[in-house]
Amino acid sequence: MTTVLVFLDHAGASLAKSERELLSLGGTLGDVVVALAGDADQAYLDGVGSYGVEEVYRPDSGAVSDVLVAGKAAFLTEAVRVSGAGILLLGNSHEMKEIAARVGVRLESGVITDVVALDGDLTATKADFAGSYTVSCRVTTGVTILTVKPNTFEAVEAGLPSAPREVQIPVEIPPAVARITGRTDKPVSGRPELAEARVIVAGGRGVDGNFGPLEDLADALGGAVGASRAATDAGWIEHSAQIGQTGKTVSPQLYISAGISGAIQQKAGMQTSKVIVAINKDADSPVFEIADFGIIGDLFTVLPQATEEIRKR
Ligand code: FAD
Repeated sequence: MTTVLVFLDHAGASLAKSERELLSLGGTLGDVVVALAGDADQAYLDGVGSYGVEEVYRPDSGAVSDVLVAGKAAFLTEAVRVSGAGILLLGNSHEMKEIAARVGVRLESGVITDVVALDGDLTATKADFAGSYTVSCRVTTGVTILTVKPNTFEAVEAGLPSAPREVQIPVEIPPAVARITGRTDKPVSGRPELAEARVIVAGGRGVDGNFGPLEDLADALGGAVGASRAATDAGWIEHSAQIGQTGKTVSPQLYISAGISGAIQQKAGMQTSKVIVAINKDADSPVFEIADFGIIGDLFTVLPQATEEIRKR
């Protein structure tokens, strides 16, 4: 059976949804082992073990979660060698993609980023050129290294918590010329993280500076609020809310697009959403070409009505 190494970067109090998705995907491909960059308490490790993981690799020099990519790539390369993994799975952030590339060079292996589907023979599906093309590709050299988009693979129910065996890997971490001292891209609203949200209500230039009706609907649905670049550039909402080619990539179960025209750069970040509902007052807006449901109307009328109906239930 192939060994699948899953890289988990920021050990929190419990497994994040994206981490559970990676572990679940790994379980469909082979025997899963984990390389852990950060400090983790026993509850977190038990959570990892509940996905059938029996071994967790850690650097013997201590956590590497606060060093930049070079240290993590050095650790991960050793973890692949020690575990004999044939497949390496990582998340899809810019940082993870860079780590994947560095590990790929070190191991003379192929890397595929932005994976949204995977066949039994490890043929991966991904979008390219800002979503203009859907590509099928497969790694043909060395370890199959994949960075996987969040919300595209199902996170299966975990089994009973169980403590995996910890294996310390002797690894020389290059001296840190820079170190992460804090992370500020955290939700401040109490709403879910965009990348993890099951529901996203996103607004564009049509919102005209007033995200209130979008926030109300997002709260009624337990969702997050996102935006087009036109809205973030206008300063109506923070840049971390931007979805698209130069923003975040999301794949929620439900994406409600309000006052967004659906430019190709916006599509690149949201077109893998399971259900897309578009609200736009222009019947010819390109957003309706990718929408599963379209409402031609003024968002300031449609959104409050939707929120009111949902709150009644
Ligand atoms: P517009 O295109 O102006 O559309 C506004 C829409 O709102 C219109 O369709 C209008 O009919 C509708 N509307 C107006 N009032 C209402 C109302 N009251 N009710 C209902 N509908 C209404 N864009 C991104 O989103 N994300 C990116 O990451 C991104 N990256 C880019 C990278 C590059 C290199 C470049 C060149 C561009 C990028 N863009 C990105 C910008 C992109 O090309 C578009 O300009 C942008 O997405 C347009 O935003 P919008 O749809 O909100 O605005």
